[in-house]
Amino acid sequence: MSQQFCPECGGAFFYDIPTKRYLCKSCGLFVTKDEILNIRDKERDKRYEEDGRRKKTREHSEYLDWWLSKKKR
Ligand SMILES: [Zn+2]
Repeated sequence: MSQQFCPECGGAFFYDIPTKRYLCKSCGLFVTKDEILNIRDKERDKRYEEDGRRKKTREHSEYLDWWLSKKKR
């Protein structure tokens, strides 16, 4: 069994054997493995759309430059 992480908040999942579901200890999400995959697909689509929007704003790239330069030090 591989460790699963919550697609909603990134928290660690606790596997509930009797119900074969994953319970997120951080936000309380209670889902099957299929449901996790569904949520991940939706989140990826959402993020992709948001990225496209953000790239158009100058503010975001400036912040990213600042963050990356800080990381190098
Ligand atoms: Zn969660």
